[in-house]
Amino acid sequence: MTAVRTRVAPSPTGDPHVGTAYIALFNYCFAKAHGGEFLLRVEDTDQQRSTPESEQAILDSLRWLGLDWDEGPDVGGEAGPYRQSERSDIYQQHVNELLVKGHAFKCYRTAEELDALRESRREAGQHSALKPSDLKLPEDEVARREANGDPYVVRMVVPEEEGRCVINDMLRGDVELDWGQVDAQVLLKSDGLPTYHLANVVDDHLMGITHVIRGEEWINSAPKHKLLYQYFEWDMPQLCHLPLLRNPDKSKLSKRKNPTSILYYQKMGFLPEALLNYLG
Ligand code: GLU
Repeated sequence: MTAVRTRVAPSPTGDPHVGTAYIALFNYCFAKAHGGEFLLRVEDTDQQRSTPESEQAILDSLRWLGLDWDEGPDVGGEAGPYRQSERSDIYQQHVNELLVKGHAFKCYRTAEELDALRESRREAGQHSALKPSDLKLPEDEVARREANGDPYVVRMVVPEEEGRCVINDMLRGDVELDWGQVDAQVLLKSDGLPTYHLANVVDDHLMGITHVIRGEEWINSAPKHKLLYQYFEWDMPQLCHLPLLRNPDKSKLSKRKNPTSILYYQKMGFLPEALLNYLG
């Protein structure tokens, strides 16, 4: 049996969030309980919002809590680099593979055209998810925009028809989601950088992740991920979507209602053991 490998994959866009520590804690415990490894991967594909200061603060906070990782950007490891901004070539290569196999397509649609397409779907009372058939342009128009050097994104091919996608979740069992809601997701942005979905799937595979333990807000992304694993002909890791931390009124924990930064608890003199115990 392959050794268990889990990861926490924070995006370095602000103060270290208690939710990150909570997810990290479960990944850490699950890996250790099975004699496996726990990794830290920095998901910094959003160039506008990611900062080195935020990354450092997340690493420092998780370490303060004692959630040490076996592999990560600062400690290295065989599956590195562990910062997505350093893995652009890997994503490019994988997108090319999807393009060649016909599982992805270049999309030259402008922002205005996309708005108009969404609007007309809404008026027709359809799901607003844009499908490949909505986005495809006539071949001569594609050629014209290509010759013009117009910007494009690469999108994934998704089923056009409605129907059920069954996702197996370690906590919830089989969860059924509707393909009708799944749009032709952008995989590579016009700046050549990957979106979360592509980078996350490629990295989880290449880093040998066996169990993806993450917040339940990602469950709607699971059909896209499942499809990507199929396109690449890879085994999908076991998914496990955890309930989110919530305010007493059951709304999603937000900094408007509660302090969400780990730094706050540190500054207020909470012991790391106490915070960890509470999250557990
Ligand atoms: N970068 C994502 C986040 O910030 C990771 C989600 C996942 O674990 O797949 O939550």
